[in-house]
Amino acid sequence: MITFLYMLIIFFVVVSAKKVQFLNSSGSIAAFFVGICIALGLGYKGLLLLGAFFLSSSLLSKYKKSQKIMMEEKVEKGSERDAFQVLANGGAASFASLVYLATNESLWIYLFAIFIAASNSDTWASEIGTLSKKQPLSIKNFRLAETGTSGAVSALGTAAAICGSFFIAVCTFFLFSISVKEMIIIGIFGFVGNLLDTLLGALLQAEYQCKVCEKMVEKKIHCGKKTVKRKGFTILNNDIVNILSGVFAALLALFVLL
Ligand SMILES: [Zn+2]
Repeated sequence: MITFLYMLIIFFVVVSAKKVQFLNSSGSIAAFFVGICIALGLGYKGLLLLGAFFLSSSLLSKYKKSQKIMMEEKVEKGSERDAFQVLANGGAASFASLVYLATNESLWIYLFAIFIAASNSDTWASEIGTLSKKQPLSIKNFRLAETGTSGAVSALGTAAAICGSFFIAVCTFFLFSISVKEMIIIGIFGFVGNLLDTLLGALLQAEYQCKVCEKMVEKKIHCGKKTVKRKGFTILNNDIVNILSGVFAALLALFVLL
């Protein structure tokens, strides 16, 4: 009965997320399964934590949308999340939830929270950071970069990343009655996940140049023409970099937690 209720709630949330164009069709299906995995392992508390990420991120992505359209031009994918993006953000969290179901080890609750915190940190940073009036710095060469470039950071975006991570840490504190120390660890390592994401994005992620407008973009097609790869690894797109940085941050947190 309770499982059926969870399924109904998840279904309702996913349909609403699709309606507000936070998810596309494949993203909705993936999000439904992520929701089920999390409900199975961590019940309504896990779903509420996921909901905190989901709600705050979709509200932020709607905020000052017109200012962000310029940036969407540049990145591979727009604001509608597809299945790869959903799994890149929710796959590790689902895994942690299922391992918790099997082992009942509270360590997996912390790791679950760190994965969500890292995703939230990342989303808040990009949604708020792109509104920065100051041009961001590239962390590769510390020169000014175009807003929305992978590996470009601004003070506003960094502050948003820290707030995004600690927002999830505080929610975890109230939902799972963890200690203050564990809450701080979740907040710190969620932010570390975001830092690694920026760093890996800057160093490894593939960048393409448009043959028409000559802009550097993350898209394989720009101005209706195929772009040329200028640097990085084709396989390391934003989704893979997201997964890697979340996993690295969780491994680092393990050293502190154990
Ligand atoms: Zn172009």
